[in-house]
Amino acid sequence: MHVLLYYKYTDIEDPEDLKEKQKIICERLGITGRILIAEEGINGTVGGTFEALDQYMSETMCYPGLSDIEWKISEGNDQTFPKLRVVVRPEVVTLGLKERGKDVSLKHKAHYIEPDELLRLYESGEEFTIIDARNEYEGRIGKFKDAIVPDIDNFREFPEFVASIEHLKNKPVVTYCTGGIRCEKASSYLKEQGFTDVRQLHGGIHRYADTTGGKYFDGEMYVFDGRVHVPVNQVNPTVISECHHCGTKVARYVNCCNAKCNLQFICCESCETEYGSGCSRECQKNSRFLTA
Ligand SMILES: [Zn+2]
Ligand SMILES: [Zn+2]
Repeated sequence: MHVLLYYKYTDIEDPEDLKEKQKIICERLGITGRILIAEEGINGTVGGTFEALDQYMSETMCYPGLSDIEWKISEGNDQTFPKLRVVVRPEVVTLGLKERGKDVSLKHKAHYIEPDELLRLYESGEEFTIIDARNEYEGRIGKFKDAIVPDIDNFREFPEFVASIEHLKNKPVVTYCTGGIRCEKASSYLKEQGFTDVRQLHGGIHRYADTTGGKYFDGEMYVFDGRVHVPVNQVNPTVISECHHCGTKVARYVNCCNAKCNLQFICCESCETEYGSGCSRECQKNSRFLTA
């Protein structure tokens, strides 16, 4: 299975209509995955055969406003997307400001920094601050060298984080996320808050990995599908995440066996066996896998 990741901010006049059309296309082509549609645009991660995805791209690009989507392709497996979900949401990416009536304007989005420019910036030794626009659990398994990873579980908390880095307002700042979609809003928000020198990584970690070989990315990239994380750095790969139980360096996420806890935590193989996939002895005792 191949995987397509894409987004497009554009005015979608009738999200329900696009939803129905997307469903029909995907079902006909045997494509699975998740597609979010809102009046502000579309965001999808879908999987299928190469031929099916090729056809999917050309049909999707026929829809008004979607002719110039940038597609990112990677390798998946049969567990990547068990099913298809096409949903209409108030926003494709929720910064949580719209409902408070003070949404960001994408007119203020930062200029792009291309992957090779970011690579050169690292090599130059020039001073800059790189900010991860993703969540803490994503950054835990992999992030750009020296990146600031906000301690947040949801993008809605990003504005709160920004309030804590006011001292960087006049410094060069680069933001990045998985595929670029969150940075469009994160960088707009930073600029609206008075940050003067902001750039956003064009195409996110995904495109950086494809075009530069991934140097200066430590660990792996978290993804929201059955793969959980994928390699980025082909040049000098490292492991930065540590087993929750024993501290061994390992890039491996496990879901806690206690259904009430369901914590996603880093765990080595031997501790997974030792604790029966529990994040604690307590959770191990309450495992959903235990048969009375
Ligand atoms: Zn361990
Ligand atoms: Zn637990």
